Amino acid sequence: MLNSTEKYLRTEKLPHIWCPGCGNGIVLGAMVRAFEKIGCDQDNTVIVSGIGCSSRAAGYMDFNTLHTTHGRALAFATGIKMAKPELNVFVLMGDGDAASIGGNHLIHASRRNIDLTAIIFNNQIYGMTGGQYSPLTPLESFATTAPYHTIERSFDLPELARAAGATYIARSTTYHAAMLTNLIAAGAKHKGFSLIEAVTACPVSFGRRNKMGGGYDMLVWQKEHAVFVDKAKSMTPEQLQGKFVIGELYRTKAPEYTEVYDRLIAKAQGKSKGE
Ligand code: SF4
Ligand code: MG
Repeated sequence: MLNSTEKYLRTEKLPHIWCPGCGNGIVLGAMVRAFEKIGCDQDNTVIVSGIGCSSRAAGYMDFNTLHTTHGRALAFATGIKMAKPELNVFVLMGDGDAASIGGNHLIHASRRNIDLTAIIFNNQIYGMTGGQYSPLTPLESFATTAPYHTIERSFDLPELARAAGATYIARSTTYHAAMLTNLIAAGAKHKGFSLIEAVTACPVSFGRRNKMGGGYDMLVWQKEHAVFVDKAKSMTPEQLQGKFVIGELYRTKAPEYTEVYDRLIAKAQGKSKGE
């Protein structure tokens, strides 16, 4: 019997392009384990990605995959889901891709509550294009475009998605890879727009410039800065300063966009028949 790696990966495309110590492979591993967990049907699943190091993950997975343009993965995915709502559609994006160029698509996919599962690889930088700072780069970090450090506060992506209307929101890290697997599986099963932020390490374009050490040291950093959601509830904002919360952060029910759209079509057709 094939294991999940052999079943869900295009092993002939390996080795991957990622640098030594990069966390993208851990997120990819969490995804294939989540697919195994939910018994993902490869023929009825589409994986759409944007542009950047993390978006190369789609090409390594043996599904219907689409590597699109920068910031537009959610727009392509929305079109696919509208045309064939029965498909499972996953959307892979980096932090720059999702929150900057694709920021508008992100808030509107959240607002529509369209049944897509978005997995955002947050390595806190534009890795592939040379280390420019992104909307998720922490304040006072160094980047090629911030040689004296950034002066912008970063987005809290789960808060942004929640305010915009997403109905399943979670965050984990590559250190907490088993939790990441479970959260991706839960997000995939949720009916509506699911956003899972995966905090991951880019030792080359972010870690080196910010003196964070290599891939191992950045995993330790994740462990030391992540706070489980239950623990965070009893902590003050001061105690949470400089930390980030992980786990299932939010889940609610709301009408799903393609279902509402189908009802509208039925209504319009019913009306036209009656007229
Ligand atoms: Fe990973 Fe950073 Fe290298 Fe890209 S540049 S492959 S994100 S370590
Ligand atoms: Mg990035």
